[in-house]
Amino acid sequence: MELTRKIRELIPYAPAEGKYALRLDANESFIPLEGPVLERAMAAVAAVEFNRYPDPCCTALCQAFGEYYRISPRLVTAGNGSDELISILMNCFFAKGDTVLTITPDFSMYRFYGQLAELKVAELPRGEKPLDAAAVVAAAREQSAAGLIFSNPCNPTSSGVDRESIRQILKALPDTLVVLDEAYMDFWDRSMLAEAETYENLIILRTCSKAMGLAGIRLGFAIACSRLTDALRAAKSPYNVNAMTQVVGETVLRDREYLENCVQKIKEAREDLYRGLCRLAERRPGTILEITPPLTNFVWLRTWDNNRVFEGLRDRSIMIRRLGDHLRVTAGSREENRILLEALEELL
Ligand SMILES: *Cc1c(COP(=O)(O)O)cnc(C)c1O
Repeated sequence: MELTRKIRELIPYAPAEGKYALRLDANESFIPLEGPVLERAMAAVAAVEFNRYPDPCCTALCQAFGEYYRISPRLVTAGNGSDELISILMNCFFAKGDTVLTITPDFSMYRFYGQLAELKVAELPRGEKPLDAAAVVAAAREQSAAGLIFSNPCNPTSSGVDRESIRQILKALPDTLVVLDEAYMDFWDRSMLAEAETYENLIILRTCSKAMGLAGIRLGFAIACSRLTDALRAAKSPYNVNAMTQVVGETVLRDREYLENCVQKIKEAREDLYRGLCRLAERRPGTILEITPPLTNFVWLRTWDNNRVFEGLRDRSIMIRRLGDHLRVTAGSREENRILLEALEELL
């Protein structure tokens, strides 16, 4: 039996393997779930009816998500991580051979799922500037793109696009499905959630894996007008979000104080890391060549020798991400940032 070409040519997603003392490579939260909120989550798990299928509509969970973000649960669909939602969108909202426009660099899973869905994945280089709405519209038109997907703020560049540019793109491309991945928007304040219902061609993605510190339970959401939401709910597999994830997600989403505190702490951690890197750049001129002020929970930088930095850190059991000619470092706790900065200081 021959494997299909799309499988043979697939480049598997390869997260770092092995044990490292410090993991600053996957943009996870450094805050473990603990204390009263963990106890409530565990009690909710204990009350799950394990012999029954979970709620296919995730009713209580979507209600909690809607209350937290002050939007109608009617616009919300839950997924087994936003990864699953990206996969469903690529497979069900486009036809084989359609073009989906991505911006590079951006989240690598767009290409991964697009290729599996036998789509043409076109790329528009971001350039050094913030994303330019007119250039995106022109590229989408030129390619006759059926879809456009990008993250805002962006993984990996940690830069962001204002709402007016997003609105321009949405209005200029009424026949293109625009998937706006707001995985890191808890750390910035330019969300389009409040306008999700206004556009017939917009799907917003959110995740519990970053700001909420729930990467382990696999939970993401798609927010869109009711027509697109109905289509998405029809296309997803009925029991895509398991019962334990539903109750843990609901418990955490209902604790606004806990979540706002997590976001605050992570923002402080990223400022701490960013400032530490800037100080290092000043003390060791010519080593750190570029650092972008971060809008996310990670910092994007370029050094005079990325391979040496990456390998030097790895030898010290510190994992970061190397992407093209840049490095991406997730903000850790104050102590973790200090360990990283000390190791960097030695290497530079
Ligand atoms: C981390 C991340 C996600 C989250 O994926 P999950 O499957 O929900 O964990 C989605 N989009 C971007 C851009 C990310 O960086």
